[in-house]
Amino acid sequence: MEGKTIIITIDGWSSTGKSTLARQLARDLKYKYIDSGAMYRAITLYFLRNHVDWTQTGAVQKALQQIKLEFVANHKSGLSEMWLNGENVEYVIRDLVIAEKVSEVAAVKAVREFAVAQQRNMGKDKGIVMDGRDIGTTVFPDAELKIFMTADESVRVQRRYKELFQKNPNVTLEEVRHNLEMRDYIDSHRKVSPLRKAEDAVVLDNSHLTMKQQLEIAQQWTRERLG
Ligand code: C5P
Repeated sequence: MEGKTIIITIDGWSSTGKSTLARQLARDLKYKYIDSGAMYRAITLYFLRNHVDWTQTGAVQKALQQIKLEFVANHKSGLSEMWLNGENVEYVIRDLVIAEKVSEVAAVKAVREFAVAQQRNMGKDKGIVMDGRDIGTTVFPDAELKIFMTADESVRVQRRYKELFQKNPNVTLEEVRHNLEMRDYIDSHRKVSPLRKAEDAVVLDNSHLTMKQQLEIAQQWTRERLG
């Protein structure tokens, strides 16, 4: 696909396959892919490790000054990975321990300002696919293509369970369901940049779609935007 360079945003509920689709589109277009959720997860990891009380504004401001986030390409896998202060944290931030706290941390205004400023900077030359919760509404409100992803809850729980089970066979379906419901609730009810569909976003419900089918739909939308 060629033509003008655009910004593609992919927002939606937890475990709807946003990052899979974002990665595929970015590869197609030779664009950058940014997983904004990884940034909130890495900040949460830092807060937990350093016992930062995120209900205290001063403590949060001070801690954020100590945090350096980078996306570094893994030459073996070809994927970009999240680094926190010079350490590859891509694997550890996927843990349920992080997932249990990340939505609380991501609801803190100073945390969002810190992450959003960096996200906007990454997209200043366009040619980017970014996934998250507020990318089409807050980070890039003028993006050319905004996709909002959704799927039945039972489908999403199964997907996330499969993913987490590979790493930790002790994880239960109930734990995963509870975490998903809690994150979706906090993410869509917070004061700052809650998760919601941008008015001009197109909805992709993939409850009954294969990955190939969903990619074809998104590729068609992309072609239309590229003109
Ligand atoms: O996308 P992922 O599930 O890894 O995101 C983890 C969490 O980070 C979300 O549940 C949400 O609380 C937060 N997040 C956010 N805004 C974004 C991306 C993620 O608040 N743009």
